[in-house]
Amino acid sequence: MINITEELLSQRFDYTKKNETGDLLLDELVDKCAEKYHKKKHSVCPLCACTEVYLVSKKDRLDINVNILICKKCNFIFNDSLFSDDDLAEIYGNYIAKIWWNDSDLERTFTKKTSKDSYANTRYNFIKKHLNDFNNIKNVVEIGASMGTNLVPFYNSGKKVVGFDFDEKYMKVGEKFGLEMKLGGDKAFFESNLQPDLVILSHVVEHINDIDNFFKNLYSHIDKESYIYIEVPGVLNSVRERSKGYKEDGYISNNNFLGYLQFLHNYHFAAWHLIQFCERNGFEVLVYDEVVRLIIKKGDNKSNIDFDIDMLEYLKNVENDYQSLRDKSVRFLKRVLGK
Ligand SMILES: [Zn+2]
Repeated sequence: MINITEELLSQRFDYTKKNETGDLLLDELVDKCAEKYHKKKHSVCPLCACTEVYLVSKKDRLDINVNILICKKCNFIFNDSLFSDDDLAEIYGNYIAKIWWNDSDLERTFTKKTSKDSYANTRYNFIKKHLNDFNNIKNVVEIGASMGTNLVPFYNSGKKVVGFDFDEKYMKVGEKFGLEMKLGGDKAFFESNLQPDLVILSHVVEHINDIDNFFKNLYSHIDKESYIYIEVPGVLNSVRERSKGYKEDGYISNNNFLGYLQFLHNYHFAAWHLIQFCERNGFEVLVYDEVVRLIIKKGDNKSNIDFDIDMLEYLKNVENDYQSLRDKSVRFLKRVLGK
């Protein structure tokens, strides 16, 4: 059994039932997450199997009731409220699709998301910059591809691309722009006979329940020479004290950790934590940063990087910064000026 020490970062991380927002669907989702959905809990830290943890938040940015823990030993931050597959299907189908994905002009969004200064191009350029044999990459697969916008720069440079996703409405847009899309997620990819030179996993791994199992399946499916690009919202870059603010490739930090928490994100990685999962499942890390962006392939070389951040202290400093009089005044002024 996991042994929890309550150390909420501040009062605002406590769970109190939210006032009605007026958005009926959102209010219903908040209620169901608090009372109806079955949430599986971790029995140990998923990274190091330690059973001693801090509880730092009882909710996410939408006031959805989830418990966020930090392992006392390895400092990994994880969500202790994992939704079942059935609940997730309902959450995505009945709520997420209607509240957040209710985009009436997907083709315009597609064009915007593939413009010159889009994240799709940032990712493409990052990968191209770091791989000497980039020109040898012929086949690219993205899992969780949505409309396939990440694949567009690869497609435009003559590579064969395939995107996997669950949402046919989104996939159709990619298909209209010439991309090959297949229905399903990681399972569908593992069951296919595709042997890509590059696999893209952009904002996917933080949603997976069993990360070790995922990497094991990935290892047994892909070729020795294949590259894998992984991107997750890294906590050390996304969340920083204002004076240590960071901006790279369009990724901008802020000091609002609650704003970073999202109930569908099961894990909150510093690069080091993700690297441990990769290495213990047979991958070596070729490139990494704290955005977090990793390029990995099969191999035994260890990165040997150190990690000595006390995550509880780190987040407490960030929260103190957020709660400082100066920050409160800035937020007040922004509200008053309507910015
Ligand atoms: Zn741990």
